[in-house]
Amino acid sequence: MKLDVIVPVYNEEGNVLAIYDELTKTLKNVKYNILFVDDGSKDSSYKKLQKIYNDDKKHVKVIRFSRNFGKDAAIYAGLINSKSEYACIIDSDLQQNPKYILTMLEFLENNDEYDEVAMVNKYEKESLFQKVSKKCFYKIMGRASGQSSVAGASDFRMFRHNVVKAIISMKETNRFSKGLFSWVGFNTHYIEYNVEKRHSGESKFKFKRQLSYASNGLLNFSTKPLRAATVIGAIISIISFVYLVEIIIQTLCLGKDIPGYASMMCVILILGGIQLLVLGIIGEYIARAFLEVKKRPIYIEKESLGFDNEIL
Ligand code: UDP
Ligand code: MG
Repeated sequence: MKLDVIVPVYNEEGNVLAIYDELTKTLKNVKYNILFVDDGSKDSSYKKLQKIYNDDKKHVKVIRFSRNFGKDAAIYAGLINSKSEYACIIDSDLQQNPKYILTMLEFLENNDEYDEVAMVNKYEKESLFQKVSKKCFYKIMGRASGQSSVAGASDFRMFRHNVVKAIISMKETNRFSKGLFSWVGFNTHYIEYNVEKRHSGESKFKFKRQLSYASNGLLNFSTKPLRAATVIGAIISIISFVYLVEIIIQTLCLGKDIPGYASMMCVILILGGIQLLVLGIIGEYIARAFLEVKKRPIYIEKESLGFDNEIL
């Protein structure tokens, strides 16, 4: 088989048939598999996937999770089951036009020196706030992790199989796919595109989830926040020491009476705040280590369609 198209699905009953239709239309001249990963949907997505599978067993495979494990786990499940020359990840809501799959495929077929193609969101249709916050995120991510991270590079990507093997060789439970994709290296070509409107339903990445996604990325790929705590501590210590010397000189040498209640309260509160913040940062890393050492599976499969794993 030439291409595996991996489609993570979470509560997308209004979209699965539409994306399937679009993919089959687009890929009619390619040897392909579509691998739907149902990430614990609570609506009728899986029923619809079963029907799609029964109507097209030649091209369709389905994995169903026992609960919602998150999009990154769904991507991992897709990649670990990909055995083809190329693997491509695409969202199920038609925001990413399947026609670009052919663009990516053609590029990799004609450019041996590249191993991966990533579609980059031009953000033309997003609000100013979203544009600015996303660009900031990529800047901070790039600086903190020391890896170049292209602003807007999405999960809409195509890999050669050697890249897939590298990505799945990293077994961390708490996965931040975008970071892993750039961490493994390889030659990546970027193509700009415009994200379209959702076909049906709502985005699962609301502001709160986006925020936790961003902080997850930062904490998973960098220890710079810990270094920042050390630096802040050092700066405050130096300032306090200078201030202490000044107080000693003022009281002992100049005999001045220094009133202190208000300034003392400010210093105590600020320092208390910084200490709690730093403790929180350390706690975040310990919590991550705590969850990682358990080595729990990245996802749990409830059932699957199209794989030779019948229970005898
Ligand atoms: N998704 C998933 N698990 C989740 C959340 C999302 O598999 O926990 C899938 C979702 O079904 C979609 C893709 O990930 O195919 C992108 O999600 P969404 O469209 O909500 O994100 P956005 O495009 O708003 O970033
Ligand atoms: Mg979407």
